Amino acid sequence: MRLSKRKFIKILGFSIFSLFLPVKAILAATKQIINPNLSKEQKKIMFNEGTERPFTSDLLSEKRKGFYHCANCGNKLFASTAKFESGTGWPSFSEALPGAFKTKIDYSFGMERVEYHCAKCGAHHGHVFNDGPRESGKRFCSNGLCLIFKPE
Ligand SMILES: [Zn+2]
Repeated sequence: MRLSKRKFIKILGFSIFSLFLPVKAILAATKQIINPNLSKEQKKIMFNEGTERPFTSDLLSEKRKGFYHCANCGNKLFASTAKFESGTGWPSFSEALPGAFKTKIDYSFGMERVEYHCAKCGAHHGHVFNDGPRESGKRFCSNGLCLIFKPE
């Protein structure tokens, strides 16, 4: 883990996010490259907390019924029913499947954001915000390159 002691203490202590987010800051599982065919860009996002350029994902226009899986390990992460058009340029979801992700607080760029990682392989997928339009109030802002869509 790259968390400094200070950041770790902050996570354990009071954080404004704890008022609004029912998710706990849990240390992500050990990161593990499982799919040997991941591209350089995919590896950069999934294992170095990169972000794909907005409006580049083929999945933005995906409207079929099915499930979105982790491009690294195949873990089932989102149902198509949770997908919505956020206008941000990244595939967005109102909720994840139970147990799909582990989260941690990300302090990069001077912001405090909640980052989510695949619970199975530890790969980074995106950040979750509390401004979602649906009942959950969540907006999972996902990197399309980290997802594989499997239609039903
Ligand atoms: Zn995974």
